Amino acid sequence: MKTAVIGYPRIGKNRELKFESEKFFKGEATEAELLETAAELRKGYLLKQKEAGISFISSNDFSFYDNVLDAAVLFNIIPERYRALGLSSLETYFAMARGYQGDKGNVKALAMKKWFNTNYHYIVPEIDDDTEIKLSGNKPVEAFKEAKGYGVDTKVSLVGPFTLLKLAKYTGSKSAKDFVKPLTASYIELVSRLAGEGAEWIQFDEPSLVKDIDAEDKALFNEIYQSLLDSKKSLKVLIQTYFGDIRDIYSEVTALEFDGIGLDFIEGRKTSELVKTNGFPSDKILFAGLVNGKNIWRNNYAKTLDVLKELKSLGAEVVLSTSCSLLHVPYTLSSETKLTTDYLKHFAFAEEKLSELSELAKLSDFAESGNVAAQPAFTANQALFHGRVDSVDEAVKARVAAIKDSDYTRLPEFHEREKLQKEKLGLPLFPTTTIGSFPQTQDVRQNRQKFRKGLISVDEYTEFNKKKIAECIKLQEEIGLDVIVHGEYERNDMVEYFGENLAGYIFTEKAWVQSYGTRCVKPPIIWGDVSRKNPITVAWSKFAKSCTNKPVKGMLTGPVTILNWSFPREDISIKESTLQIALAIRDEVLDLEANGIDIIQIDEAALREKLPLRKSDWYSQYLDWAIPAFRLVHSGVKPETQIHTHMCYSEFTDIIPAIDAMDADVITFEASRSDLQILDSLKENNFKTEVGPGVYDIHSPRVPSVDEIVNALNAMRDRIEDSKLWVNPDCGLKTRGETETKASLINLVKAAEIIRNK
Ligand code: GLN
Ligand code: ZN
Repeated sequence: MKTAVIGYPRIGKNRELKFESEKFFKGEATEAELLETAAELRKGYLLKQKEAGISFISSNDFSFYDNVLDAAVLFNIIPERYRALGLSSLETYFAMARGYQGDKGNVKALAMKKWFNTNYHYIVPEIDDDTEIKLSGNKPVEAFKEAKGYGVDTKVSLVGPFTLLKLAKYTGSKSAKDFVKPLTASYIELVSRLAGEGAEWIQFDEPSLVKDIDAEDKALFNEIYQSLLDSKKSLKVLIQTYFGDIRDIYSEVTALEFDGIGLDFIEGRKTSELVKTNGFPSDKILFAGLVNGKNIWRNNYAKTLDVLKELKSLGAEVVLSTSCSLLHVPYTLSSETKLTTDYLKHFAFAEEKLSELSELAKLSDFAESGNVAAQPAFTANQALFHGRVDSVDEAVKARVAAIKDSDYTRLPEFHEREKLQKEKLGLPLFPTTTIGSFPQTQDVRQNRQKFRKGLISVDEYTEFNKKKIAECIKLQEEIGLDVIVHGEYERNDMVEYFGENLAGYIFTEKAWVQSYGTRCVKPPIIWGDVSRKNPITVAWSKFAKSCTNKPVKGMLTGPVTILNWSFPREDISIKESTLQIALAIRDEVLDLEANGIDIIQIDEAALREKLPLRKSDWYSQYLDWAIPAFRLVHSGVKPETQIHTHMCYSEFTDIIPAIDAMDADVITFEASRSDLQILDSLKENNFKTEVGPGVYDIHSPRVPSVDEIVNALNAMRDRIEDSKLWVNPDCGLKTRGETETKASLINLVKAAEIIRNK
């Protein structure tokens, strides 16, 4: 059995690409140096895959920033404002990705969006009516030739035409269908160039096929691929799908003249069923995505071999593949020095997944005539699934099992609580507050680092933070904010901080995953049953409360966000893990309340992250448990205690009833950058929760004027009842400087006073 890898992480084992790119951006490295680092990285991972015996290795999976941007540039989808800068081609590329500010001009970056249901972000191609699509580069061909030079025969991978057209933003009057002809012609030209260079396979990544597909999409897809496949010459074409199943378009895909079809058997809930009920054409190769490209647990060989056996019986050749690009997992376990093998043996990062592919392929071949159960590779693997150290906590399991329906409901209902809270808190109309964090200045970060390295004692660390909290509160009182926060000086990251204080979590040293461009994240791992070891934030909030007579808002991260920004378990459902986390945070909420904190904010910045790609799955597969999990966190508080939540975006027009069903008392979200359409939708949906749409954008150092904020508030008042409107920035202030923060908040309070007095 042959093996295939859809794509490989390119950031480097020690994030070499990140650091060299950042040097280049600062003018500390030349273009030649950056190109050399990149070439070294590619050589390294191509040879790594070859050594592991992978049969289908991708070239052109490398990118300096993002593969969608690469495809846009390749096909000349470069908006005029970037061309006009007159930069070199690499600089123009980076200008599109990151914006440009310098002697040649000043342009913002193209928009960036989440890549399907991952935490990777792609650059949104922008097409206007004058965009002339044509093949205007040679990157895939160069990549193929480069790999060949190292003795690696590759399949050339790139974003497919359907997905490229679906992801692009159309700024003029034309739409996707107006660009099918030139785009298809350009892909055909590329195919013929590759055939001329002796390439055998091309891989078109078409993840857009796993979404809801309508008749128009089908027509678009057929139009593109009929002509593309008619002209494919000697080249074999693999259509690669991932992140789900292609239930809406399976028969169309299998009917076309593809040579290989890549299907995802990990996230594709219906993939097995589709192949079984519809069959699979015997003249095509089935690339079966069975090694998880998104999570880090070892593959369960018994299960995978069972699926392979079934697939082989369909009659077509089966190639064992990753379920998606390995871009979404860290590089290698060999960089981890702190976790013992008791833990590490359960994981497979990109490099280890290569061994899994090879081992599984051998075992699958062996199974045709022999007894796999006696094979050492098989028995060693199966031993991993008979329990893991420190992962089970019967008390936690029992507690989850004992959750009653009523635990998901807070009483009394919202309107009654709202009255009681207004009486108790005595806040003015249009109360002012912030989202939680204050500027994380050098001294704050240094204090935390020194403590982590053991250079200062707990007492020294705590004293410093208390001093910062006291100063922060004094500042907020001077400015005149109504609801005070402690500033979050003890946290570097809103998920890691809680993970570190929860049993069941473990942490890696180098397990970085690319999030966008040069930005990487290092998600913690949910290893076992999660519970709260001890109070987490209570001491900080209590101290903050002792510094002021105004209400202090406690600050927590919600269970859905904690789960979504971690590597989840595979032995229990993410729903069950989320409920465990919810119970842990619930304990913290109740402790805060018992310590006199009357307002508690539970952030759900990543609530939308795992929203299924198909609308029809939104509720049944996700929201139906995620929203109750949030309610479980706060349903035990007294009616007078006010629960806030915060989201970093306002893209919830389509799930407003679900957001209202979180049953928080107040929600703050980003609104300053988007238009006010979200507020119209809130009104239409009779949104009950009080709202704080951000009145200014904290992502920029610019200080908003009083007038500007007054105007923003007045526009909001047209849509939201005065009694429900809060005044706040659109997110936490930790990335901002102290000067602009103070100036902005002074203007925010002045603006609130002006509209109050009218
Ligand atoms: N409370 C957090 C802060 O203020 C919220 C961060 C976020 O939403 N990303 O930093
Ligand atoms: Zn935010």
